[in-house]
Amino acid sequence: MTAATIADDRGARALACHDCGQIHRVVELRPGSGARCTRCGALLYTRHRLGIDGVIALYLTAAILFLIAMSTKFITLNIEGLGETSALWSGVTALWRAGMPELAVVVLFFVVLAPAVRIACALWVILPLRQGYRPWLAVPLMSALDRLRPWAMLEVYLLAALVSYVKLRDLAQVEMGPGLWALGAAIFTVAAAEAALDDHEIWDRLQPQATLATARGRSGDVTLDCHTCGQLVAVPSGAAHPHCPRCHGALHRRKPDSLPRAWALLLAAVIFYLPANMYPVMTFVYLGGGEPQTILQGVSFLLHEGMWPLAALIFFASVLIPVLKIVVLTLLLLGVQRGWVGGERQRTQLYRLVEGVGRWSMVDVFVIAILVALVQVGSLATITPGVGAIAFCLVVILTMLAASAFDPRLIWDVRDAP
Ligand SMILES: [Zn+2]
Ligand SMILES: [Zn+2]
Repeated sequence: MTAATIADDRGARALACHDCGQIHRVVELRPGSGARCTRCGALLYTRHRLGIDGVIALYLTAAILFLIAMSTKFITLNIEGLGETSALWSGVTALWRAGMPELAVVVLFFVVLAPAVRIACALWVILPLRQGYRPWLAVPLMSALDRLRPWAMLEVYLLAALVSYVKLRDLAQVEMGPGLWALGAAIFTVAAAEAALDDHEIWDRLQPQATLATARGRSGDVTLDCHTCGQLVAVPSGAAHPHCPRCHGALHRRKPDSLPRAWALLLAAVIFYLPANMYPVMTFVYLGGGEPQTILQGVSFLLHEGMWPLAALIFFASVLIPVLKIVVLTLLLLGVQRGWVGGERQRTQLYRLVEGVGRWSMVDVFVIAILVALVQVGSLATITPGVGAIAFCLVVILTMLAASAFDPRLIWDVRDAP
């Protein structure tokens, strides 16, 4: 990694750090390297060895793998000759049939729609760019690509499938189908494609990134950083409703109403945290016996069965991460509100951590979706979802929204204030 530097080279392209707002000169990187913010350490931009053709090949492969994952067997379960096969989407239909349409829609969106739309948007934009012309609808599709990023959770679903596999192995004969392998391969291919071409590069091809001189503008101008495309725009101070010339999005110095929105979402998450832990997330009936289980009862059940790595994983993802997220976000919000000075870099790193790990809490919800779809073997064994799962799902979504409502640049504003 080479550090990007703040420069006086006014003709060079400029980029603001997403996390602390520091403006950097974009330097030409060696292939295979990236540039980090000198102030907060955030990754600013990267340059990879693969060219655009390689990226297109990766996305096309990902699309094919995703279609295979969608249309073939995922996990097959066999109890005493009675079998059930699950495909990627059968968790969705099973939740719907079990009277949980809310969860069905969430799983459909996170596991099928968001990843599929992201792959389709990327191909739609990159293919014409390679031929040298501007794709139709490039701006709304690139914005969608950016907005959907945190909500496409294929890798979390893959982890959930592996957890379900281990959980069910004791109960029945379980086989991994080609769909599961295809999903694993699709996840790696998408990750490689995304790492090989960062969004800045695509936006830059649609309309070049501003130079330091244009970004600074005339005296009296303020430099605003577009939240959607990262363009730097100089606007006269006091200008009403400025817009980004590249993506037409509204420009703000900081995310509007960041603190009240983050507080409201966080408070809602805390409220739902109680029913999420008090009510059962699922009921597992085997040979006529079985009781509804809350998240913690599920963890202690796994411990009792000797599956302690699994118990640790579920405890970490479903109990620890949500609590940590709530505590860290509360501290970050208090810090900004009270005007704390010091530890800005560490607080920004904490924010990045919270923003990054939040999605993994969905693993338990996906496990429930997979188990509900698989374990419907007549009177022998059934798993039904419980109302606690909906509350828990809301906690995860609300904390993710709270994290995205919070503007980490506010942490630095106190220090930067004159
Ligand atoms: Zn930074
Ligand atoms: Zn923009």
